[in-house]
Amino acid sequence: MHCPFCRHPDSRVVDSRTAEDGSSIRRRRQCPQCNRRFTTMEATSLAVIKRSGVSEEFSRQKIVTGVRKACQGRPVNDDDLAKLAQRVEEKIRGLGVAEIDADEVGLAILEPLRELDQIAYLRFASVYQGFDTLEDFEAAIASLRRDAEAAGSDPAS
Ligand SMILES: [Zn+2]
Repeated sequence: MHCPFCRHPDSRVVDSRTAEDGSSIRRRRQCPQCNRRFTTMEATSLAVIKRSGVSEEFSRQKIVTGVRKACQGRPVNDDDLAKLAQRVEEKIRGLGVAEIDADEVGLAILEPLRELDQIAYLRFASVYQGFDTLEDFEAAIASLRRDAEAAGSDPAS
């Protein structure tokens, strides 16, 4: 790993720490030439297999971009989106797999999005779960109502 400050081609590890959930390792490194310190992260590679069969590295930014479209005009800010993407990544990494289908990533987004904003959830679910009739929407809305009632948060009751 070269030094990001002076580009020296070598560096020395001075400290190594595993993340609490064991999914990544943080290393403090020191450059033997300029003596500056920097941190590197090591995580297992997680590939997302798209429907076309092409695989690409998992990216939180792509989650944010995908969900942002569904959140247009909704009271959802960048911070909410960043937290949602983090939850999705933790959920997927928690599966302990090296690759995952793009559809499964979409499904992993549904639950946190449902908690974040129900309208955005319906928009997103309609694309990911291929809603093509009004009945599909009605079923999804009925399910949201049941959740609200189970949580005791239905203002009508
Ligand atoms: Zn250096």
